[in-house]
Amino acid sequence: MGSVGLLNGKVGLITGAGSGIGRGCAELFAHEGAAGVLVCDTDEPGAQETARRIEAAGGTATAVAADVSRASDVQALVDVVVGAYGRLDFAVNNAGISHRNGPLHELEEDDFDRVIAVNLKGVWLCLKYEIRQMLQNGGGAIVCTASRAALRGAPVAAGYSASKHGVIGLVRSAALGYLEDGIRVNCICPGVVNTPLVRGLDPARIELLERQQPGGRLAEPAEMAEAAAWLCSERASFVTGVALPVDYGWTAGS
Ligand code: NAD
Repeated sequence: MGSVGLLNGKVGLITGAGSGIGRGCAELFAHEGAAGVLVCDTDEPGAQETARRIEAAGGTATAVAADVSRASDVQALVDVVVGAYGRLDFAVNNAGISHRNGPLHELEEDDFDRVIAVNLKGVWLCLKYEIRQMLQNGGGAIVCTASRAALRGAPVAAGYSASKHGVIGLVRSAALGYLEDGIRVNCICPGVVNTPLVRGLDPARIELLERQQPGGRLAEPAEMAEAAAWLCSERASFVTGVALPVDYGWTAGS
């Protein structure tokens, strides 16, 4: 019996795929047989590097520069996938940013607005245009990247936590709204993952995060990608509206 990848023949897009978890997803989705992966990021060289890695491993990928907080970019992104691959089977709405950590009363308005624009409005825009296309396809599967901060408060990252709580609201609403259309919508809630977003933090804070993490280590992007790939695959055919912690028990202890 030949081996069948989780995503054999599927085509779709991954946002924030020029780095970290998104890159991990793009590489794993291609490895699992995806016939085309559109790699989206504001960081064009990062997106190109991810696409290059996929092509070097024998997969098919296209890099596109797009800002998920801009409706015109997101609409164009979906048009590019459909132009390149003919349809949209999966989407991973993963692009996200953090803001300067600190108590809520010291959070700057600009920082709050930007984190909401990218992490929350960006996910809504992606869902909007992806679902429009999936309705034409006759179905599809979407995974959004929320966070463990979507499931608990984060006193030093209130804007970030609020944006990620909002992602769960969008995911549950979209899941229920398209039950009859064969479109499944889920999210993963990563624990702390070893990516540039985290490596940019103060070393003392990284050490604290490691110490607080059950298992005593940060997750790797590929461990998030495994969950996203399964949720996007037909093997998760009865799973929708779920916020799946991928945190080695962190939220279980809360
Ligand atoms: P990362 O910084 O390595 O990657 C995020 C990518 O998103 C970057 O390449 C960045 O250029 C891109 N991006 C930022 N704004 C964008 C925009 N407006 N449009 C398109 N692309 C944009 O970070 P990561 O850790 O891989 O984070 C990926 C997702 O996972 C984010 O949504 C983040 O909030 C979430 N997350 C990360 C962790 C963690 O510990 N690293 C934990 C929980 C959730």
